[in-house]
Amino acid sequence: MLIPTLRKVGAEAEMASHRLMLRAGMIRQLAAGVYTYLPLAHRTLYKVEQVVREEMNRIGAQEILMPALNPSELWRETGRWDTYGPELITLQDRHERDFLLGPTHEEVITDLLRNEVNSYKRLPMSLYQIQTKYRDERRPRSGLLRGREFLMKDAYTFHADRETLDQAYQGMYHAYERIFTRLGLDFRAVEADSGAIGGTENHEFMVLADSGEDTLTLCDSCDYAANIETARVGGHEGEKSRPVAEEISTVEKVSTPKASTIEQVTKMLDISPHRLMKSLLFDVDGEPVLVLVRGDHEANEVKVKHALDADQCELADEAVVQRVTGAPSGFAGPVGLKEKVRIIADHAVRDLFDAVTGANEADAHLLHVTPERDFQVDHFADVRTVQEGDPCPHCGGTLRFSRGIEVGHVFKLGTKYSEAMQATFLDREGKEQPLIMGCYGIGISRLAAAIIEQHHDDNGITWPLTAAPFAVHLIAVNMKDENQARLAEQLYGQLVQNGLEVLFDDRQERAGVKFKDSDLIGIPLRITVGSKAAEEVVEYKIRRSGESGHLSAQELSNQLP
Ligand code: ATP
Ligand code: MG
Ligand code: MG
Ligand code: MG
Repeated sequence: MLIPTLRKVGAEAEMASHRLMLRAGMIRQLAAGVYTYLPLAHRTLYKVEQVVREEMNRIGAQEILMPALNPSELWRETGRWDTYGPELITLQDRHERDFLLGPTHEEVITDLLRNEVNSYKRLPMSLYQIQTKYRDERRPRSGLLRGREFLMKDAYTFHADRETLDQAYQGMYHAYERIFTRLGLDFRAVEADSGAIGGTENHEFMVLADSGEDTLTLCDSCDYAANIETARVGGHEGEKSRPVAEEISTVEKVSTPKASTIEQVTKMLDISPHRLMKSLLFDVDGEPVLVLVRGDHEANEVKVKHALDADQCELADEAVVQRVTGAPSGFAGPVGLKEKVRIIADHAVRDLFDAVTGANEADAHLLHVTPERDFQVDHFADVRTVQEGDPCPHCGGTLRFSRGIEVGHVFKLGTKYSEAMQATFLDREGKEQPLIMGCYGIGISRLAAAIIEQHHDDNGITWPLTAAPFAVHLIAVNMKDENQARLAEQLYGQLVQNGLEVLFDDRQERAGVKFKDSDLIGIPLRITVGSKAAEEVVEYKIRRSGESGHLSAQELSNQLP
């Protein structure tokens, strides 16, 4: 078997799952964010997929497989060819026609349904696929957690009315709970930012892990849980339920009169302070520029996220800066960008204030402003990002923070895509209506890595049985010993015949090497055939708990299912 384990890996592999998957011989990198799945990884991914499939099938979703290669025309219909941003991988065919590699499949499936489903009688309809997705992530550096080519389960539901959408959403939500529970994960569903994708409701499923990129706020006393991006103290109710059509997909340079206050800016732009808070203040060659990032879901969500990552002083999108600053192309090249552009605004309004106070240059707005003198700091008190220890907005309990890895995301899309693509059906009265949609993603390959983030120790992976590449790791300490070889072969046959997946280490290696590899690979149950083989006695060891003991081969067979 091809299980090229390693003692050490390079320092660039920071995340436990990244390190362990490399060390356990599960994955090898081909290019940044692009990996080959070796046999162990492939088996685990297959297990994860099967759990997902079973739960999708259970709620009546039908499996299909759409092409990764998408013609640009569909993506022009929704505008996402232009708005999706630099994560979109595009290419041309020999006739110079534009294509892209699908990062998500709303366009393709909406096109399918508009052709095939035209009556309320055929609704609701629920479809899913497990497929390779492509996103040119800015920082694909965490192994399978953030790939540029990765496996996703994406489901889409279509409805004639809101009620069945709500039902499907609930169904998916519960299916997701079952999936992550079966995979042995400690997870939370959190309220997420509907921001750009619009729609009334969406939840992210977060695997709790200190290494996670997202910050969650959880209530000690009730079940309130939100992604910090969404959680605001106070808040603007209207904001969350804004109709999709109102979302604007633009990035604007804002030039305002001197000494304008934040209050004036929000009025002038007709945006709420909440939205202004999502704006970013750039310092471009000493010139402060406020960039409003709003609109389209994936692209700008990413831009906002990266840009907010102020510590990193990195920008998500050169093109944004170019458009905003009017800089000649080349200015914002990938290398020069980091040096020339520094993000001086953080995601908290308070920091925006600090940044604004420092801004004092011609032709950029918010000049010469001083908090208190030019605007009331209180004005924003109700929209500052939530802090640890704040009262829970639901029950008044105490909020605490936690880190998470987004492994799933469920969305009520509404008619955003169906309207843009004229995907309609005839209702009971024979009237043409846009299809109402929901979409639901799970990162399959990210999930495999997230399981490791939660299930490992100093010696290696500690797989839950449901995701383990094998159930049993059978080790013959010395294959040259006749008794050991015979007993091990016999047990292997028995175990396999009983339907167990067994990894049989019959290599001519030192025992120490075999045990080290076994701990690293992390299969739940180890059976060692060693010096007691002549008496038909073997040793067992539970990988996770370390519990071990001896039992006779007969006892072992008796235990088999
Ligand atoms: P993130 O915020 O981590 O970039 P996303 O919100 O862009 O993720 P979605 O568009 O919601 O991702 O896609 C659905 C699921 O696909 C995510 O919940 C996540 O589990 C997975 N996923 C997204 N991007 C990646 C990636 N680059 N590598 C692996 N899995 C990913
Ligand atoms: Mg993303
Ligand atoms: Mg996200
Ligand atoms: Mg998401």
